[in-house]
Amino acid sequence: MAAVLVKGGTVVTSTETQTADVCVKNGRITEVGPALSCKEAKLIDATGKLVLPGGVDVHTHFNLEVNGLKVADGFFEGTRAAACGGTTTIVEHPGFTPDGSLFAPIANYRKDALGNCVTDYALHGVVSKVGEDTGQELARLMADGIPSVKAYMTYAGRLDDDAIIAVLKAMKRERGLLTVHAENHEVIAELSGQLRDAGRLGPASHPLSRPDYSEGEAVERMIALARAAGNAPLYIVHLSTGVGLEAVRRAKAQGLPVYAETCPQYLLLTDERYSAPGDEALKYVLSPPLRKQEDCEALWQGLADGSIDTVATDHCSFNLSQKTERGRDDIFACPGGAPGVETRLPLLYSEGVKKGRLSLNRFVELVSTAPARLMGLAPAKGEIAPGADADIVIFDPKRKITISPATLRHNADYNPFEGFEVAGWPETVLLRGEAIIEKGKHTAREAMGRELKRTRFTV
Ligand SMILES: [Zn+2]
Repeated sequence: MAAVLVKGGTVVTSTETQTADVCVKNGRITEVGPALSCKEAKLIDATGKLVLPGGVDVHTHFNLEVNGLKVADGFFEGTRAAACGGTTTIVEHPGFTPDGSLFAPIANYRKDALGNCVTDYALHGVVSKVGEDTGQELARLMADGIPSVKAYMTYAGRLDDDAIIAVLKAMKRERGLLTVHAENHEVIAELSGQLRDAGRLGPASHPLSRPDYSEGEAVERMIALARAAGNAPLYIVHLSTGVGLEAVRRAKAQGLPVYAETCPQYLLLTDERYSAPGDEALKYVLSPPLRKQEDCEALWQGLADGSIDTVATDHCSFNLSQKTERGRDDIFACPGGAPGVETRLPLLYSEGVKKGRLSLNRFVELVSTAPARLMGLAPAKGEIAPGADADIVIFDPKRKITISPATLRHNADYNPFEGFEVAGWPETVLLRGEAIIEKGKHTAREAMGRELKRTRFTV
């Protein structure tokens, strides 16, 4: 593979900002420094641009099917949208199968992903049934390069507290990381029952059925279960509330290995969207639901002060047409989720860095370095340093784009951030030294993404 020299840009990592060149050989970064020369290298002029490590989105659902409905993307279009938005590695959360098998979802998703991914990719496991063999099975999964699994505290595949403790103990023993969707199932069941009995089946009932305290309690309980399991490491996905954040903050202050992820929708959108007219409100049916402005502010603070570790997307692109068909007359039957993989870096840069809420280095840490480290992808991913994979985003901080389905490559028929004006967009994206995005367009010859074997939890 040819050498590449990225010249004259501002190289930004989670710890440093410097004007420097980056030399790439055989898909890896070989040198970072001023005025490099690199023999017979293809030159990429990055003057006036930011040179960032490729984004790492550790929460996508590109291949999900629920109740006979499939999301709009699939791996190819989902990872192409990711690449256009500056993300070069994704970690997909498979849906659970009715029989609760740990291995069937992995086998199915591997088959679908193979040869179809524009970015590099990895999978989480999902554990929805716990039995005598679960400990051994988790050990096998981790030996297969999958050191994280997800448990749900709500939905049909949810686990009870005793099952969660068993999983936490097994994960701790094997040096794995349990990721968890933390909402109190009984609270949600009770409140949605009350709303249903009252005939309140419109979008406004969605956030009412999943109040902030259902997340706050579940996060708090999860932390208690992890402590009981011998301080097992714990990763809360899509944290959405100030009360949930407070629980995480307290746990961190006690030195517990508790980590949290949030998503742009919980930072930038509020539950006012559920009173939008017509079917518009259905676009925002996702779980947890959008919250109050105070929650958004608290989460920004959590990102800045280190209480929240990563920003992922929970990209789950059911079309508005699917949401309308199932959810117009009954909000509780509406498929949940929204697209977001393509807009994560530009939104966080624009709304975070440009608005003074985050430093440039903290931005890189949140979207790339920390998720790579927590999910066993470092040091190959999430870094611009000799030895790392040459996954590089040449980011134009001046490029202005108004977000709309027309300006994006994802396959869904709407975008929840439509109308947001962002300043900053990826111009060129390299995956292992090869340009997969040039002038904002997908130009790679093929879907060259590989499945990544991840290492065990070490943070
Ligand atoms: Zn999710």
